[in-house]
Amino acid sequence: MSSQKAYIQTFGCQMNEHDSFRMMEVLGREGFEMTPDPDEASLILLNTCSVRENPENKVYSLLGRLRKLKAKHPDLIIGVGGCVAQQEGETILKREKAVDMVFGPDNYFRLPEMIASVRRGERVLMTKWLPRTANHVQNFVPEEWVEGGHVEGCKAYVSITKGCDNFCTFCIVPFTRGREVSREVDNILREVRDLVSRGAKEIWLLGQNVNSYKAHEVGFYELLDRVSQVEGLLRVRFTSPHPNDWNNCLSDLMAERPAICNQLHLPFQAGSDRILAMMNRGHTIEEYLNKVRYMRAINPGIEISTDLIVGFPTETDEDFEGTLRVVEEVGFSQIFPFKYSTRPNTKAAKMEDDVPREVKEERLARVIELQERITHERTAHYVGTEQDVLIDSANPRLRHAMNGRTDGFRPVTVRGGDLEIGDMVRVRITSANQHWLEAEPLGVHAGA
Ligand code: SF4
Repeated sequence: MSSQKAYIQTFGCQMNEHDSFRMMEVLGREGFEMTPDPDEASLILLNTCSVRENPENKVYSLLGRLRKLKAKHPDLIIGVGGCVAQQEGETILKREKAVDMVFGPDNYFRLPEMIASVRRGERVLMTKWLPRTANHVQNFVPEEWVEGGHVEGCKAYVSITKGCDNFCTFCIVPFTRGREVSREVDNILREVRDLVSRGAKEIWLLGQNVNSYKAHEVGFYELLDRVSQVEGLLRVRFTSPHPNDWNNCLSDLMAERPAICNQLHLPFQAGSDRILAMMNRGHTIEEYLNKVRYMRAINPGIEISTDLIVGFPTETDEDFEGTLRVVEEVGFSQIFPFKYSTRPNTKAAKMEDDVPREVKEERLARVIELQERITHERTAHYVGTEQDVLIDSANPRLRHAMNGRTDGFRPVTVRGGDLEIGDMVRVRITSANQHWLEAEPLGVHAGA
């Protein structure tokens, strides 16, 4: 076992993936190399997520396996970070003696400090929130980490907000990620410009609720506008916006600015106003649909994806039919459907989880089946069209083929041409399967 190799296992969302990249940067400056093999690591971190079903059980079962590894390599340091760590805190240290450190999402920049304490023989618990100012502005990426962030191929992620104030009744995020704060615009732009200067062609703006961004007088509209005009940046995406904070001006901006991708992940969660009210979503289904209708009217090619929950407490067949109607009307490019399950400490946990498991499963299967038909139809429409594809990786199976994404985030394999990661290439779509497009190149026109 090498003395300075680290392995990070990431669970859950893009925010967590981004946090893991940040952890890698922090560890890199400490002299750690990353390894894909936990057996050769001297430091193993689990970056956990509370959103999926039974997350704590999964973490404890993984820790049970790591305990055996630690028995063979007593110097191995094991840390648990992320949302489960924030939520469970000291319980993890008490339940699993192999764990050396437990830290919440606000603390990973302090990894060097934690590792030093462990090497002195201590066990560490760091789950305190960073203090937030009265106006909810906080440059939560420390000054020394604003520049030098990770560029993955030609993409990079930039956190603009952290935490959430919405308290949807099913969601644990406000408890595990804390209340919402926004970074100052100059702090964000400095990070974006630095990433672009080091090869990023596409930037993802991240936050639990990106479009409620507000730092002093700057809101999400102005931030997005300014980021989209950074020289050398070809594409901007963001995730996730909330329907309540979405407005038609943002749809106009997306349609006007070529660099802002025609792709939106806009969760609607349920197709029944009664269930939406129980979820504390703060909008009706008609309000959601009106925003989508406007967007489609001015920007017909936009690809919209969504999250939805089936089997929320008291959901009737009629409520669920409403969900199917929304899926049908919007014609999403992709859906992320979840069977409802209780999260401790949330308001919904006090409601009776009264929809039987078989009913939830049947509803889930029906909504997936509907979406598969829609996806198939929407994907087939691409054949014969011309698209701009940003090349982001080599195709792992085919020689002389590269992979990339359309403006609407459709994955494409481009066969032929002398293409490199970071090229923006005009292509003609030659064929499509359920989720994937194939294309021939017509010519590189930017970013080469
Ligand atoms: S908006 Fe609702 S679902 Fe999204 S993170 Fe906030 S509380 Fe959770």
